[in-house]
Amino acid sequence: MIASRLLKIREKLHPGVTLVAVSKTRSNEEIMQAYNAGQRVFGENRAQEMAAKFEELPGDIQWHMIGHLQRNKVKYIAPFVHLIHSVDSFRLLKEINKEAAQNNRVIPVLLQFHIAREDSKHGLQEPLPSFLTDGSMEIMKNVEIRGVMGMATFTDDETLIREEFRKLRSTFEGLKQGVMSGNTAFREISMGMSADFLLAQEEGSTMVRVGSDIFGERKYT
Ligand SMILES: *Cc1c(COP(=O)(O)O)cnc(C)c1O
Repeated sequence: MIASRLLKIREKLHPGVTLVAVSKTRSNEEIMQAYNAGQRVFGENRAQEMAAKFEELPGDIQWHMIGHLQRNKVKYIAPFVHLIHSVDSFRLLKEINKEAAQNNRVIPVLLQFHIAREDSKHGLQEPLPSFLTDGSMEIMKNVEIRGVMGMATFTDDETLIREEFRKLRSTFEGLKQGVMSGNTAFREISMGMSADFLLAQEEGSTMVRVGSDIFGERKYT
């Protein structure tokens, strides 16, 4: 079931687009079904749940943190996290840098931007956050900014969703041609979930985060 759903999604992916299988709330058995179908990239939204799964599951899984991350939880995932999608403040970025240094590594991150109508969604508000221009990044040797992430409004209105994805794409392009220019590592646009990943790909997504289309409906978030 999980394997065949995964294959169906893979068939729809554009070349070069990374599929993050969102495994929050899913059991190790469910995750292993996807793993055995070849999936290696998984996304979680809670630090301790992700750390527990990292301990119990195969070591070649790449764990992505996709949910809101509290600063005091960074330490649980710093030793192994592959990519943090949800950096929405300089304070959080500083904490990730500190924990990464303690683990002798560089942690790749995405900047999460607020693109949705809803107030509840986290994310940076300004398309050019001041910490990127005021010299703050010079001491950040243990984080690498790989791109941007965003979540569209939860709605059936395709026009609105498309507009929001375009906004994220243009934020990405603005940074790429501006403050991040010459930085070849800055190349990811994480957008699109089960309901809207086809739209997101059309608007330039390089990473889609798909949960329920692979694992079925969630009982809780
Ligand atoms: C849960 C979640 C997803 C996946 O949602 P589905 O609708 O199950 O595909 C994607 N991104 C984030 C940030 C999430 O929290």
